[in-house]
Amino acid sequence: MRRLFIILGDQLDRESLIFKHADREQDHFWMAEVAEESTHVWSHKQRTALFLSAMRHFAQWLKGEAYPLTYLAMDSHEFPSLSDALGDFLSEHQPEEVWMVKPGDYRVFKSLAETCKAHDTDIKQLHDQHFLSTPAEFKQWADGKKQLRMEYWYRQLRKQYKVLMSDDKTPEGGKWNYDQSNRKSFGKDGPQKVPKTLEWPQDDITKDVIVLVNDRFADHPGELESLHWPVTPEQAEQALARFLDEALPQFGDYQDAMWTGEPFLNHSLISAAMNLKMLHPMTVIEQAELRYHHGDAPLAAVEGFIRQILGWREYVRGLYWLHMPDWLEMNALGAKQDLPDFYWTAETDMTCLRESIGQTLKYGYAHHIQRLMVTGLFALVYGVDPKQVHEWYLAVYVDAVEWVELPNTLGMSQYADDGIMASKPYAASGQYINRMSNYCKHCKYDPKLAVGDKACSVTTLYWDFLDTHRERLAANPRMGFMLKNLQAKSSEDIAAIKAQAVTFRERTS
Ligand SMILES: Cc1cc2nc3c(=O)[nH]c(=O)nc-3n(C[C@H](O)[C@H](O)[C@H](O)COP(=O)(O)OP(=O)(O)OC[C@H]3O[C@@H](n4cnc5c(N)ncnc54)[C@H](O)[C@@H]3O)c2cc1C
Ligand code: SF4
Repeated sequence: MRRLFIILGDQLDRESLIFKHADREQDHFWMAEVAEESTHVWSHKQRTALFLSAMRHFAQWLKGEAYPLTYLAMDSHEFPSLSDALGDFLSEHQPEEVWMVKPGDYRVFKSLAETCKAHDTDIKQLHDQHFLSTPAEFKQWADGKKQLRMEYWYRQLRKQYKVLMSDDKTPEGGKWNYDQSNRKSFGKDGPQKVPKTLEWPQDDITKDVIVLVNDRFADHPGELESLHWPVTPEQAEQALARFLDEALPQFGDYQDAMWTGEPFLNHSLISAAMNLKMLHPMTVIEQAELRYHHGDAPLAAVEGFIRQILGWREYVRGLYWLHMPDWLEMNALGAKQDLPDFYWTAETDMTCLRESIGQTLKYGYAHHIQRLMVTGLFALVYGVDPKQVHEWYLAVYVDAVEWVELPNTLGMSQYADDGIMASKPYAASGQYINRMSNYCKHCKYDPKLAVGDKACSVTTLYWDFLDTHRERLAANPRMGFMLKNLQAKSSEDIAAIKAQAVTFRERTS
């Protein structure tokens, strides 16, 4: 055997660079399902099922293309981890070289590289062409900069790829960013027309996977009666078309809004398909831009959507490779509470958390503001150990892969990195949630109150958070307004808030 090509569960790219180098006569492909990928964090059943079903569909395609493949299905072997399974294969077949696309997870790459080294085999990494920039390009951009703000990286990529540009230097419409026109709430009448979502008939591959996961990972979080996520590139294209037709025109308006009983609203639901490399980000960007040029969607909505992919998605990946492995150990705010149990059950009388966690357990999905400004915000102001928060997010979302989950969690949401990613902590009181949703209308607590029987714990913990970190936050000019409001409170008020926070933490732990 000349080369062994490893394909991981999040590398299901039919256009991968690997295929430019593969020779069907001399080379061999290798894929493995191993339990460790579902147990190193306590993975949601939907997440595991999605990965396995998509992998098996990809293996079917590889075989159809006559590529020689060894595929280790989970129920056909006893290897606990990828490195054990690979080590066994290397011992038996001794390929001259191992090749793979750069993995999305530092842990996986490290363990596979060590296994190859132990078998005296060189491992070669190829660029993952499902990203529009490389870690090396990001590093070059970052070198010498004090602050790495997403906005400037995004502008550079827009110019480079000529996305929404009227000429080489001028953004379409004259502005780079239309946030001002976006981010409305639904008002008291709620969403008028919620776009429909797609469901695909489950084929034998998916049915087998559902049985396997429900049996083998029965005690894992989440429900798995059926799987509502695309498992092939064809289905991923359909998911994208559904979004462009039904939801894009109002994406900008309602990208931050939340509503009880409405898990998906105007969101695209394509993150998992992109992260598993079944849908190329440039396809998504080009098709969204076309909708603007054809007059089907306003510029603010299209720019807001493209910024998530060309901006945020590329930016977090660049940051991940710049700061790993150190990022994993950061805990700038010294947070050490355990993650409350209700994150795994949704059993809480706080409506915002019950809704956001409840839909997460049902579908493996919550949209960005639910992740950032409900579950993330609560963990931040409660003071949860950031590693536990990271492990929860990595476990419970179908789109969770470490390169994107970790910066969003430890950086943007928990400020564990002391501002590598966010210019200030995303701390807010229950009033923010009240403004952006109807959750508080259905809650026994009052978002305005920080003390008393009807006090909203998000609000209590928000003031407690500001007071606890007062000195550190005072150095940050962007915190000035919040700290001024804190200063306006009397010492008696602060003492009562802190007492309420202590009681709440005791009751919850
Ligand atoms: C604490 C936390 C953890 C997160 N973990 C993940 C994760 O594990 N995997 C993941 O893909 N996204 C993660 N995100 C980002 C974002 O919440 C999801 O990408 C989004 O909710 C996916 O749903 P959607 O496809 O309907 O997205 P839409 O709202 O329709 O947005 C379109 C696309 O933009 C991209 N995008 C949007 N926001 C971000 C962002 N902050 N970072 C990177 N890409 C972004 C995604 O690819 C998404 O599919 C996390 C955010 C937070 C705050
Ligand atoms: S009142 Fe507080 S706990 Fe209840 S839904 Fe609103 S923000 Fe959440």
